[in-house]
Amino acid sequence: MHPIQSIGYPVHFQNSLPEIKNFISNGNYSKIFVLADSNTEKHCLPLLQPYLPENYDIIEIDPGEENKNIDFCIGVWKNLLDFNAERNSLLINLGGGVITDMGGFAASTFKRGIDFIQVPTTLLAQVDASVGGKTGIDMDHVKNIIGTFTQPKAVFIDSAFLKTLEDCQLVSGYAEMIKHGLIADKKYFDQLKTADPLNIDPALVYRSVEIKNQVITADPHEKGKRKILNFGHTIGHAVESCSLTDKINPLLHGEAIAIGMICESYLSHKINGLIDVELQEVTNAIIKLFPISPITTNNDDLLAVMKNDKKNDNQRIGFALLTKIGECSYDNFVEEDLIVKSLDFYRNLIK
Ligand code: NAD
Repeated sequence: MHPIQSIGYPVHFQNSLPEIKNFISNGNYSKIFVLADSNTEKHCLPLLQPYLPENYDIIEIDPGEENKNIDFCIGVWKNLLDFNAERNSLLINLGGGVITDMGGFAASTFKRGIDFIQVPTTLLAQVDASVGGKTGIDMDHVKNIIGTFTQPKAVFIDSAFLKTLEDCQLVSGYAEMIKHGLIADKKYFDQLKTADPLNIDPALVYRSVEIKNQVITADPHEKGKRKILNFGHTIGHAVESCSLTDKINPLLHGEAIAIGMICESYLSHKINGLIDVELQEVTNAIIKLFPISPITTNNDDLLAVMKNDKKNDNQRIGFALLTKIGECSYDNFVEEDLIVKSLDFYRNLIK
């Protein structure tokens, strides 16, 4: 598989780890750091180790979205300082989206920016979080509210990492792949409907990255078209944030996005031309693939989180919505009562 050229950097695929050795030896870096969480240190570092130089330092953090915050980020900065990281040091982010987002943010701000590469180890990070240059952390349970647009120097995707990933994490990552099909490629969506999320064909991962890359290279800073990648995320992020706060039913990112995609397909049907048959098709496909999770948070709390969403304009809640399967528009501002109806639509599915 050929590397995909992104915004000034290559995304390598399949058996890409030996490429890391070349990248490091060509980079003339004074110090190498690996940021991992306890799971990726255990399961993924042994796969990466043969391609690292003899001397490197590991920065390890606790796993989980609840740690994607300023306190843990300060911990990363302190480690870099303690290990005498210099301007020409390299940070290797070895992990899922939490590590690639927070590591990218820590690197992009330390000493006004040091180089970093992404080595995504979850399906979600491979098809989504590691590509596109969005870095960030959460604050006060608002997702990714602090962050930068900073591109990595390279991304290395290798399916070997997925072998130790829990099934629920594979299914979670699959949600973003479904999203790529829904917003840009009906044929790809049809392929995904019948593929097995627990046994992913690397060609599907490649196609997802291709779609994401086409969108982000056209609009790196999300002034316009890139907003279509947020399909399912306005409601999905609110459901995810609230589920993390109330801790009754903490959802994985992809599980929340699956809920968001159903609700936002309903909105797409009501105001953006998505025909009823396609609303049913999307709903059925998602329900078949994802465990149906109840939304336990009340509507007011969900709407309050949505009002903090970065996609809003003058307090109006903004959505990327499908016009049909494989096509999406952005900057659709939706009234609160219709948003509530979309949540009811989802809730009624599981009655
Ligand atoms: P995650 O990073 O928390 O990883 C999920 C779990 O899997 C963690 O417990 C981790 O330790 C473990 N893990 C990782 N790789 C493993 C492996 N190979 N074997 C065994 N265990 C492994 O979560 P995620 O789902 O990868 O990422 C979610 C995050 O990504 C969210 O914070 C979301 O906001 C972010 N995200 C960012 C973007 C972006 O464009 N920057 C896009 C989508 C999502």
